[in-house]
Amino acid sequence: MSGNVWVFAEQWRGRISEITYEALALGKELAGALQVPLEAILLGHNVLPLAGTLGKADTVLAGEHPALAELVPGLYAEALAALVEERAPCAVLIPLTNISLGMGTLLAARLHLPSVNFCQDVRAAAAGIEARCVLYGGKIESRVTAAGTPAIFGIWSGARSPEAGRSDRAPSVEEVRVTVPDDTRVRLKRYIEPEAGDVDITRQEVLVAVGRGIQSPENLALAEDLARSLGGAVCASRPVIDQGWLPLSRQVGKSGLTVKPKLYVALGISGAPEHVEGMRDSSLIVAVNSDPRAPIFGVAHYGIVGDVLEVLPALTAAIEARKEAHSHA
Ligand SMILES: Cc1cc2nc3c(=O)[nH]c(=O)nc-3n(C[C@H](O)[C@H](O)[C@H](O)COP(=O)(O)OP(=O)(O)OC[C@H]3O[C@@H](n4cnc5c(N)ncnc54)[C@H](O)[C@@H]3O)c2cc1C
Repeated sequence: MSGNVWVFAEQWRGRISEITYEALALGKELAGALQVPLEAILLGHNVLPLAGTLGKADTVLAGEHPALAELVPGLYAEALAALVEERAPCAVLIPLTNISLGMGTLLAARLHLPSVNFCQDVRAAAAGIEARCVLYGGKIESRVTAAGTPAIFGIWSGARSPEAGRSDRAPSVEEVRVTVPDDTRVRLKRYIEPEAGDVDITRQEVLVAVGRGIQSPENLALAEDLARSLGGAVCASRPVIDQGWLPLSRQVGKSGLTVKPKLYVALGISGAPEHVEGMRDSSLIVAVNSDPRAPIFGVAHYGIVGDVLEVLPALTAAIEARKEAHSHA
């Protein structure tokens, strides 16, 4: 198979996104199997200083253009399309985030290339390059072989650990000429920063997280009791936020916040990839779920199979009793 493996290096306001390192780790494995170099594609405005952080790649192809100061997927897709046509990589791995979502699909449509999204793995197979895709929050997995090259793969968070994609090695950097169209249908008008929440869950050492299994807003008081006992705060999965039971500032996950507390207690949360993405780096994860096959048990260090409405008050009572015993010791 000819052509190098490319990873699109997503950057946001002067920082390389964590998922870029995940994609680099995956890209390195694929490039190794295909025995071709791995190249990171770094596009933007004033981004050249970031190239040194992409040492997992053999080479960084860095392209600067003032029009790429903001990450507008259509513009980036055009800039990438010109490079793909010129250099014909065999595979282009693009992080699937709220920032880059759509870029890979636009690129594939523009050049009539095969495109596979929601990939957790991309491998060299006898029939071509094969991707393992995760759909419907992890409930369905499918294997897809791209119909030819270059092929575009949208990489879902969690494909590899970001640590595996970092390197102290300095990559060779090649500056490339970037062409972008003068006219574009989509323009960025302005950013709207979300309102600051009452509690900053990214700074808490202890988080008590509730999911759909908590069943009703009245039951949130049980989680508040446990959080108070542990000296932490309550956060939630998306369905709880969508129902308006807690403010958006308490949402953990892909479309919420990423948290890394010392203790994360997941109550009635299934463990969909979009949730796990936001909490998997917590130091200690304790999960309570009535379904022993719930995916959350795959990331939890400790698990309790049980009804959250029974376990919650029992946990709070046990912690209070322990605190009481210590105060008299
Ligand atoms: C683009 C995109 C972005 C997303 N962003 C996010 C995000 O930022 N954050 C997020 O959380 N999700 C996000 N999602 C949604 C995600 O896919 C899941 O749908 C969501 O995380 C599921 O939430 P849940 O675990 O609370 O609910 P469910 O998946 O419905 O799970 C409920 C769990 O509770 C358990 N349960 C039920 N009753 C009890 C009981 N009495 N006691 C104990 N356990 C019980 C069940 O066994 C089940 O495992 C996103 C989805 C998409 C497509």
